[in-house]
Amino acid sequence: MARATYTEIECKSALNRVTNMGFNWSLNPYKGCVHACAYCYARANHSYLGLNAGEDFESKLFVKTNIVGVLRRELASRYWKRDEVAIGTSTDPYQPTEGKYRLTGGIISALADSSTPAHLVTKSPLVIRDIDELRRLQERAGARVCFTITTLDPDIWRIMEPGTAPPPQRLRAMKMLTEAGIPSGIFLAPVMPRITDSEDALRAIFEAASEAGATFCWSSPLRLIPPVRDHYFETIERNYPELLDRYRRNYQTPDTPAVYREFIRERINRLRAEYGLPGEGARPTPPPMPMQLPLIGA
Ligand code: SF4
Repeated sequence: MARATYTEIECKSALNRVTNMGFNWSLNPYKGCVHACAYCYARANHSYLGLNAGEDFESKLFVKTNIVGVLRRELASRYWKRDEVAIGTSTDPYQPTEGKYRLTGGIISALADSSTPAHLVTKSPLVIRDIDELRRLQERAGARVCFTITTLDPDIWRIMEPGTAPPPQRLRAMKMLTEAGIPSGIFLAPVMPRITDSEDALRAIFEAASEAGATFCWSSPLRLIPPVRDHYFETIERNYPELLDRYRRNYQTPDTPAVYREFIRERINRLRAEYGLPGEGARPTPPPMPMQLPLIGA
């Protein structure tokens, strides 16, 4: 992975109005993500910046340094209805540079001060740093933390999510949050055909999440919009060449065939029922096409 560079920018707005995502507002303090997941649908956003969806997305990052102040101004508006806000819909709000900038921490404090409910999605145990503010948000308005977990297999994790914390670390962080009274669960997504979709692999995730105190499980099969598909196929070609033709056949459009999606939905629902981990409303879903991606802040 290339060495990351960070460009500080100022955003004009913090809250983004979104549609068809199960929630109405999102915000993202960073553009680009060093976690570098092979399947990341947010890669497409970098192409709108004149950068590529591959190495540039992972190494040329933008930091909205003024986002907390802008958010506080927006939350103070008399028109703000305190709808639930989704944090980290495009990029991980707890990627390593958050240790320095503390923007997500400031965002959670601002939301708690204004009694605005929120949920966030991350792959990082750094979220534990903000456990006190998350508890305050939970008590005042409602907070949920969702850890993306696609696999517990260390080899697949290294290939597919090379810049992330190992899944067991995420599960330990989830346990700490649930023990602190903050509802936490897993985002089992994307389910990758022929790689992470076996009954045994999915069951292992449910088992581990259940032991860690998860209270819900969101899930979604792999979708591949055009610039992401090219990057993902390169990863498949390098690591699972025997699957490449099958992927090419089945991903001529962003979605796999309906019959596969239904097969996975039934498998996940059966495991949800068995482990008592319901799906929930307001779950993050990949946007249908690049042109419908939510605008990101600035
Ligand atoms: S952690 Fe999330 S935002 Fe970051 S690369 Fe992975 S999928 Fe994309």
